[in-house]
Amino acid sequence: MQLSTTRRDIRSLSADDLLELTAKLGQPKFRAKQLDEWIHAKNATSFDEMTNLPKAFREQLAERFGFAVPEELTKQVSRDGSRKYLLQFKDGVSVETVGMPTRNKLAVCISTQAGCAMGCAFCATGMNGLIRSLTAREMVDQVLHVAADFNERVTSVVFMGQGEPLANFDETLAALRMLNAPDGLNIGARHLTVSTCGIIPGIKRFAELDEQFTLAVSLHSAVQSTRNQLMPGVKKFTLLRLHEALQAYTEKTGRRPSYEYAMIDGVNDTNPEMQALIDFCQGTLCHVNLIQLNDIPGSPLKPSPLEKVEALQRRLTMHGVEATIRNSRGGDIDAACGQLKQRFTVPKGGAGA
Ligand code: SF4
Repeated sequence: MQLSTTRRDIRSLSADDLLELTAKLGQPKFRAKQLDEWIHAKNATSFDEMTNLPKAFREQLAERFGFAVPEELTKQVSRDGSRKYLLQFKDGVSVETVGMPTRNKLAVCISTQAGCAMGCAFCATGMNGLIRSLTAREMVDQVLHVAADFNERVTSVVFMGQGEPLANFDETLAALRMLNAPDGLNIGARHLTVSTCGIIPGIKRFAELDEQFTLAVSLHSAVQSTRNQLMPGVKKFTLLRLHEALQAYTEKTGRRPSYEYAMIDGVNDTNPEMQALIDFCQGTLCHVNLIQLNDIPGSPLKPSPLEKVEALQRRLTMHGVEATIRNSRGGDIDAACGQLKQRFTVPKGGAGA
């Protein structure tokens, strides 16, 4: 249901606002609580779903309010079953979201910002800069959209689409908690993964959370000069400091972060680069995900040959570092709109993050 231009999104009302509203509409206090549950815990996107509210009350609400759910501008369906959506919010800003079904699971990759300020050299999103950060509600709405389209329960969410989640920390955290809420979507904390390019203050805050959310770090090179070129937005967070922050994270949480490593021909797949990655990881709690870079039209960066990806996996394993080669999902649809394919991946033959 699209919000009309005259009706306000009921989901923007606080608990106190809802109390006031129900009183104004002549309803008892407990209706405000029920309404609050539908909106903020059960993530309802229509008044029809609110079956324990009297019909007349729902009609009163529908006359005054709507749900500013995003509009689906396009949907592309991949041969592998993945679906990629371009969703537009009420201010005209749009982002991409991907649904990735595997057997009885449904993983969703959401965006946390429209555009991105980090400017990674291998990323189509970073080329055009940041438009704006998304609200927690807009992040959750992406998940709800995919769930409704597949008519399936979402089993995991990766915050790995457009944007740097830890540069939008508070809204990202609020979205994680909404997705994790037992009376809401009830997605297990370990199945909610935040991917950062290495914002150290954000990693430190993430380590302090009580919930066991999963952390993924886009590493892409363990050689400082190469990483500076590939990921200029995190230049100031050096590899040395990143290593320290990740050590502190694992000590504090006991959880294992994963490192994303998109292999780029002649850039981060050389012997010194491989050795630097081994040195970065060896003896630490981590899991490395190796991905063959996908071509971005017009980019000089090309994917490493598969033999090199396999060779790096063998070398990491020999040194006691767990590593998985990941497949891109929806490669045929990603290519069509210039979004980085490696940002939407699942393990070979397995479910998403
Ligand atoms: S890879 Fe992520 S952090 Fe880097 S520019 Fe793209 S969206 Fe931003």
